[in-house]
Order: sequence, then structure tokens, then C-alpha cells
Amino acid sequence: MRLGHIRGPAGPELFIEVDGARQMVSDVLDGAPPTLDALIRDPRDWRAAIAAALDDAPGPTGGSAGEAELAPLLTPGSIVAIGLNYFDHCREFGTDPPEAPIVFAKLPSSVCGPGEAIEWSPAVTEAVDWEAELGVVIGRVAKDVPVGAALDFVFGYTIVNDVTARDVQSAEAQWVRAKSLDTFCPLGPLVVTADELQDPQALAIRSRVNGETMQDSNTAEMIFGVAELISTLSRSFTLRPGDVVATGTPLGVGAFREPPRFLGEGDVVEVEVEGIGTLKNTCQVRAAYHEEERA
Ligand code: ZN
Repeated sequence: MRLGHIRGPAGPELFIEVDGARQMVSDVLDGAPPTLDALIRDPRDWRAAIAAALDDAPGPTGGSAGEAELAPLLTPGSIVAIGLNYFDHCREFGTDPPEAPIVFAKLPSSVCGPGEAIEWSPAVTEAVDWEAELGVVIGRVAKDVPVGAALDFVFGYTIVNDVTARDVQSAEAQWVRAKSLDTFCPLGPLVVTADELQDPQALAIRSRVNGETMQDSNTAEMIFGVAELISTLSRSFTLRPGDVVATGTPLGVGAFREPPRFLGEGDVVEVEVEGIGTLKNTCQVRAAYHEEERA
């Protein structure tokens, strides 16, 4: 099942995409939760209810969801991210693969939706980089979960661009600021439910800047797979429905290119994960703070 939001007059509206065409969930099923946030956090099995209702519903009415109509997907409680989790990325970094996951957080306030601008002030950073990542959306409260059962706690999968201010990251021991500027967590465009993506460790993952391929790898390159990550994280803190795990990025980020390549005004960044879709955002450099204050 592929679920997303379009912009409605009163806020995001939940749709389901069937064979490339969208259908509003509220048209299919009376009383269905209005948003993905509500659906994921509701203990009832809405996924089964929607699937059953779809069988009885007339064909899709909405046509395919236009890119510009898409609305932000989720408001996660926590965004837990993993550093250096691809073998090919460790090679470009010139480091041995870590023996345990490198865990950091992105603040939930950094989330932005598909099509929204990634923006920053040059007073804060001048080295903004992309990171294509598979995003895992948690569907059930997960605490002390064994590896063998960990995928049962996944609601679905989405795409994360773990946008990073490299100059801030290298200057500070903690990465939270470099990873959490407003808009530095593009998320979407859709969630594909776990039943539809059987093997999260066999997905092509790519990024492009202005159409030029920057990253082209596969989630098979992950050092710690999705099940192992959920299990490991859940032994330290509880993961809750709607939380997102950003599973690390492969080879090809801007900082390690020769010469290094960072994002600038008007750059279009696309992150594509096989079976999910493409998350596209455009960059906007804001006026520096002192200029804003004068204005
Ligand atoms: Zn990352």
C-alpha cells in the first residue's frame, strides 16, 4: 500500500496510490484517520480496513498525484539516524566499517515535505551536502526487540535526504546542529507499507543534483540492516509509531567528491529509492542574518 498526502484546503489529506493513480482515503472508507500521522498512531489495523474497502470501491478517481500537490508526509516524534552505515561510504571516507551502529539524532523540526525548499543562511553554513537514505517508519511501540522480529515493527518505508552542513559537522563534536537546520530533513514523497516491500536490503538507492547522478548504490551495501538497527536501537530507547530511522547513506556525497561539491541556490536534489519513488527538493539560500535584521 502506497500512502501520501496532498494539499487540501484545510491541511494535508491522506491518499492511497493504486496503479499510479491516487484515491482519497476518506472517499474509500468512512471514519478513516485523516492523516498518516493519525493512521500510524491509531492502534486499529487501518491498513487492512483500507485494503478491504478498496476491493469494494470504484476505480481511482483522482488521477496521478502531481508533484506540486504533495504535502508533508509525517511529523515524527524522533528521527534517529545512522552514520557510516554503507560499506562503499566507509571506503570513500577512508575508514574501517564501524563495529556498532553510529547513532545520532535529527531534530523533528528539520522535516520538510516533498517539493519544499531546502534552505539555509550563508551565515550558518556554506557547505550543504546531500545524503540519500532509506527511511524506516516505525508502526508499533518497539522496546527490546529481537532481530528476528524487528521487521514486524515497521509500518513502512520512505525516503530521507539527510541534508548536512559539512562545515558545522566538522567543527562540532555533536552532529545535531549540522543535521537539524530547519528544512534539512526532506521526507517522502510516500510511505510504502512493509508488506509491499519485502526485502529492504535489496533496493537501488540514488541521488541526483540538477539531473547529474551523484550516488548510485544499493541497500545491500548497508553494514547494519534495518532489522539489526531496530533491534539495537530498541534496546537503548523505545521507538514509537511514527518515529523514523534514517539508515545511512552510500558512496557519493558532495564532501568526498574531487573537487568537493556543495549545494547552492536553485540546485534541484532528487533522492530515489527503488520501489518507493523520488523525493525532489530545490535549494534556496536565504539572506544572511544581519541583512534580514536590517530589512
Ligand atoms: Zn546520513
